[in-house]
Amino acid sequence: MARDTSTTAPPTPDVASSVFVGASEMAQRCREFDWSRTSLGPVESWSHSLRTTVSTLLMSRNPMFLWWGPELVQLYNDDYRPSFGGGGRHPRALGAKGKEFWTDIWDAIGPQIDFVMSGGGATWHEDQHLPILRNGRMEDVWWTYSYSPVRDDDGTIGGTLVVCQETTKRVLGEQQLKSLLAELSVARTRLEDVFRLAPSFLAVLAGPDFVFELANDAYYQLVGHRDIVGRPLLDALPELCGQGFDRILHDVVATKTPFIGRAIPVMLARTPGTAPEQRYADVIYQPLLDAAGNARGIVAHGTDVTDQVRAQRDVERLLAESELARADAEAARAEAEAANRAKSEFLAVMSHELRTPLNAIGGYAELLDMGIRGPVNEQQHADLARIQTSQRHLLGLINEVLNYAKLETGTVRYDVSDVAVRGVLAAAEELVSPQVRARGLTLVVADSPPGLCVRADAEKLRQILVNLLSNAIKFTDRGGRIDLACEDREGADAPTVTISVRDTGIGISAEKLDVIFEPFVQVRADLTRTAEGTGLGLAISRDLAEAMGGSLTVASRPGEGSTFSLTLPMARR
Ligand code: ADP
Repeated sequence: MARDTSTTAPPTPDVASSVFVGASEMAQRCREFDWSRTSLGPVESWSHSLRTTVSTLLMSRNPMFLWWGPELVQLYNDDYRPSFGGGGRHPRALGAKGKEFWTDIWDAIGPQIDFVMSGGGATWHEDQHLPILRNGRMEDVWWTYSYSPVRDDDGTIGGTLVVCQETTKRVLGEQQLKSLLAELSVARTRLEDVFRLAPSFLAVLAGPDFVFELANDAYYQLVGHRDIVGRPLLDALPELCGQGFDRILHDVVATKTPFIGRAIPVMLARTPGTAPEQRYADVIYQPLLDAAGNARGIVAHGTDVTDQVRAQRDVERLLAESELARADAEAARAEAEAANRAKSEFLAVMSHELRTPLNAIGGYAELLDMGIRGPVNEQQHADLARIQTSQRHLLGLINEVLNYAKLETGTVRYDVSDVAVRGVLAAAEELVSPQVRARGLTLVVADSPPGLCVRADAEKLRQILVNLLSNAIKFTDRGGRIDLACEDREGADAPTVTISVRDTGIGISAEKLDVIFEPFVQVRADLTRTAEGTGLGLAISRDLAEAMGGSLTVASRPGEGSTFSLTLPMARR
């Protein structure tokens, strides 16, 4: 539809220049355009009305466009040109027929032009969306325009004048603003949700009296769901009076410097009407600045750390208490150790001191008995024998106490060597056989491998065995049996030998199995039995066994007898 604007028959200069007035581009183009090739005919033939309208249009600074005649031939001014963009529509539009030119929007504007041309009156269209082909593509373009009928000289409607303003920029600007506002509102809602549901408490206080503007759920919970928004701080939470918070807030506003406090104590009523209670909070008060940079209030946020503070104080208190208890226990232990040492030293000294006179008693009784001091009758012999028996018994007891005291003070020396088990068992048997016979018991010593040796102090080992055998004799009734045996565990990582003393005696109840190894413990299973001994034998024996790297244990049932097992490291063969 491009029109050739070259002029074959230029209009008569005076008429054309009186209609196409001025130096504008479009005046120039109109002057040069061959109007005779259009249905408008040469300018000289134009009606007054058309001439006046066109010259007004060309002189106007408002974008204007004119469709004239039944073919709606087009004219427009310089200010209308930008509406065509850079796609070659200008200057093709000049002199073109409306319907052939505006194919892209004819559906929309055709009926409007018809309406005006057929006498319907002027139309007004605000921010009308009329996408047009511009700059080589369909562009979204908005217009505010009016179509006005222009009367011809004969009073009929000769054309439609478009006075328009492209509003694309404003409309797009408004659309952008609208979507920005929508986004802002979404962001604001999101921020409000975050603010409201934040686990830490948040409140905004504004103005010189710090009126609550906003408070989130956590803040409401902190202050017992009181009605605070819209009320000054000290009016909403009167218990804060005198606690110094208003001074801190005033400082933050005055200096525009945030205040950060850790575990700040605050007396707060947790439910309305109740007495304030001690709480602790980590808080940050930030100045709320307006656009001009003035502090217009405070944002208070923080966390209620009461539980943590209390827990920490409990831990600190418990630590201090346990430290005290530890120091007390340490002192008690030191005291007990000192007392024990003193007792052992005392026993050692006393036993030693007692042995000298006892030995003298024994010695003089023996001299008398031998008749060295003169003749002794039968009666006196018997008495002297009793004195000697008692003296030996007492000496035995004292020796045991002395042994134990020595063990306790740690002054016992161990002379460890390879000791042949068979020899030890035979020696022990020989030592106790008189008592076994006297008590009407049977002692069976099992055979043991000839080369089997233990690592032990031979004297201490003998002492343990004699003690175990003496107990077996003491606690087994006439006719009973005692077995002395040994068993080696050669294959073990640390090979051992266990020597066992088994009797068929009275046995030991389960609850006493441990305590009999305590010093000075005797179990009076048979109340008719006269308890002999000190209750030290097993304590000494276990100490000795353990000191030689071994152990001493017992298995027993009341009425069925007992088995004491002494285990010692085996000597390498
Ligand atoms: P004591 O000098 O009194 O024998 P011990 O320490 O040797 O002291 O023994 C402690 C207690 O263990 C004994 O008084 C006795 O009650 C119990 N006891 C020890 N050996 C036997 C045993 N073979 N049978 C039963 N009871 C025993």
